[in-house]
Amino acid sequence: MQSAGITLAKWIHSGVSKDPRSTHLKMHGKVFDLSEGLYDPAVGRKIQPGELINCRCSKAPLVPGFARDERDRAAYEAATRLWLFDGITDR
Ligand SMILES: [Zn+2]
Repeated sequence: MQSAGITLAKWIHSGVSKDPRSTHLKMHGKVFDLSEGLYDPAVGRKIQPGELINCRCSKAPLVPGFARDERDRAAYEAATRLWLFDGITDR
């Protein structure tokens, strides 16, 4: 997954969970360091997408100096569409 030059990724909330974590909804679209993860206030530490039980979040790696990979872009857009389609708003 991780290759040279990729150190950052965007958190992607899957939108398919029946009981989404509110903190993960807020983390959607946030950029984080792949080696560290993103801080989730619900558990009080940095986590990786999909690390927690029933977490279906994923990530879209950001390649510095290059356009994002087409496949990642498609996945990101699909996830974003699904997220919006579910009518989930960031509160
Ligand atoms: Zn999640």
